[in-house]
Amino acid sequence: MEYPPFANEPLSEFSDPARRATFAHTLARVDAELGPTWSRSMLIGGEKVETGAWLESHDPTTPSRVVGRVATATPELADAAVAAAAKAFTTWSRVPVAERAALVAKVSAIIRDRRDEFSATMVVEAGKTWGEADADAAEAVDFCELYLRDAIRLSGPQPVSHRPGTRNRFIYMPMGIGVIIPPWNFPLAITVGMTMSAVVTGNVAIVKPSSLTPIIAAKFIDACLEAGIPDGVVNFLPGPGEQVGMRLVEHPGVRFISFTGSREVGEKIFARAAVVQPGQRWLKRVVSEMGGKNAIVVDETADLDAAARAAVASAFGFGGQKCSACSRLVAVDAIYDDLVARVEAEARTIRIGDPRDPDTHLGPLSSADQKRTAERYAAIGQAEGTVIVGPGTPVPADGHYVAPHVVAGVASRSRLGQEEIFGPVLSIIRARDFDDALAIANDTEFGLTGAVFSQDRARLDRAAEEFACGNLYFNRKCTGAFVGVEPFGGFNMSGTDSKAGGHDHLLLFLQGKSISEPE
Ligand code: NAD
Repeated sequence: MEYPPFANEPLSEFSDPARRATFAHTLARVDAELGPTWSRSMLIGGEKVETGAWLESHDPTTPSRVVGRVATATPELADAAVAAAAKAFTTWSRVPVAERAALVAKVSAIIRDRRDEFSATMVVEAGKTWGEADADAAEAVDFCELYLRDAIRLSGPQPVSHRPGTRNRFIYMPMGIGVIIPPWNFPLAITVGMTMSAVVTGNVAIVKPSSLTPIIAAKFIDACLEAGIPDGVVNFLPGPGEQVGMRLVEHPGVRFISFTGSREVGEKIFARAAVVQPGQRWLKRVVSEMGGKNAIVVDETADLDAAARAAVASAFGFGGQKCSACSRLVAVDAIYDDLVARVEAEARTIRIGDPRDPDTHLGPLSSADQKRTAERYAAIGQAEGTVIVGPGTPVPADGHYVAPHVVAGVASRSRLGQEEIFGPVLSIIRARDFDDALAIANDTEFGLTGAVFSQDRARLDRAAEEFACGNLYFNRKCTGAFVGVEPFGGFNMSGTDSKAGGHDHLLLFLQGKSISEPE
């Protein structure tokens, strides 16, 4: 089967009244279907398994409302999942790539055909606005489509140099069992991307979803079943990270771990996976994409309105709960006051409310923990700077709502200047000049995204060399990377720079074999 060249899935245009109406219709249906009786089993080797223990997922706008539940695993079931996956690997690893790609294309088609249902589930379960949920579902399709094409490209003999008297081949082979541990903030796109990259290359996967968003993950597993992915190739094992996730990470039968989440958990997984367990025959490969403390730098030549709009969109889109979110706005002294005033005005235009309303810009945060953390940092902002937006802003009483907070006059070496908040709190830092601004941007252990607003080409060229981050943008926001267009992954403590959605990504799940014989 020939696939047309990869192209990003178009985003929905919700300003179109007809499109608005179709989404509203699906959202109402999905909202009504979800509830305490919506449930899914685990999936181990094709068997639906339940233990009697359930993990409930809650609506972040109305936390008392259960939107569904999934069966949860025990450490013993984690072992059973590894055994089932090992069995499936012996056959799946030999399935021709064309067949594997065709199955991933089916998963992609299912998500594309029912995209509004997937998006609506994220509105209800994760509190995403329509636009954010739609982009998440589109990205899930993009990951499938890009990776299936790359798997085909990487199959068969790869180029090697000729040496007289020898005949050489170089091929890529799957590695084995991969544990997939995604976060809740892109609960469809990242879960699908991490799972499909492993599976399309001939590996088998055990998916341990985030405990905050198991319903959308379960719907993806339903799509895998519907597509006909063979038993044991994709296993679904919800459960507590420390017990079930870590048991999988430490299991000697596991070959690689694909993790996206916080620095704290990523570091722990990296360390524990490095310990060779009795019976283990390899060093585990760990792909670990972690947090950020992303900065937007603005100099005196910049379009300040555009910079203010971009900073506010990057800081408060999905409540700052994106690894790429802008957390630090670094402004040079000459335009600092002017920019602060524009950011303040822009931030005050944000409409907070139920994400079911298409005109909402900012819904609730995803959990009570997220809310507590954001409020804690907002309070720290009172001590470390001047909170110019936030206090007094009305938010709905029920639900995990936190108003956007802007804190001016923050020092780089402060908690607000250094720690990942992952909530709607933007710090503004004053720099003497562009040199100082770039130094401040780099004054972090993270290195995920960044942006520079400047009309000075020489400065942009310098930033291209010196701004230490994996995804750098000029004169635009620092969120919203497109699959295939802006391969995504960070430097330093932001992770292993795996560049999800890039053409090198699948090599992380393959091992190369060189085969040589006399000519
Ligand atoms: P988290 O680290 O709390 O959880 C991530 C996953 O790890 C979840 O599935 C969780 O259940 C599991 N987990 C937790 N403890 C575990 C343990 N001890 N052993 C094994 N698994 C365990 O992160 P989160 O709150 O879900 O996500 C937010 C974080 O993710 C932020 O730091 C954000 O920056 C980061 N993130 C990074 C990227 C990226 O591409 N770099 C993308 C999205 C999110």
